[in-house]
Amino acid sequence: MVLAIILFIVVVVWLFVTYQSRKRMKFCRWRENRGKDGPQGHYYVCMNCGAETFQTGEKPPSICLRPEEPGAA
Ligand SMILES: [Zn+2]
Repeated sequence: MVLAIILFIVVVVWLFVTYQSRKRMKFCRWRENRGKDGPQGHYYVCMNCGAETFQTGEKPPSICLRPEEPGAA
C-alpha cells in the first residue's frame, strides 16, 4: 500500500515536471547570431528569457536555459 502511494506521487511529480519543461520549450525562442560564433559553436540567444548559449551543429537548443525563478514553482 505504501509502495502504491509512493508510485502515485512519483507519477504526479513526473507529469508536473514534463508539463513545466514543455511549457518552457514553447516559450523559448532561440535566435542565432553568427557574428558571435565562437570556438564553442554557434551562438544562440533566447528572445524570451535572454539565456545565451553556444551550440554545435545547426540546431538551436531544445530546452530553455532560463534560470529557476525563486517562488515560480
Ligand atoms: Zn528561454
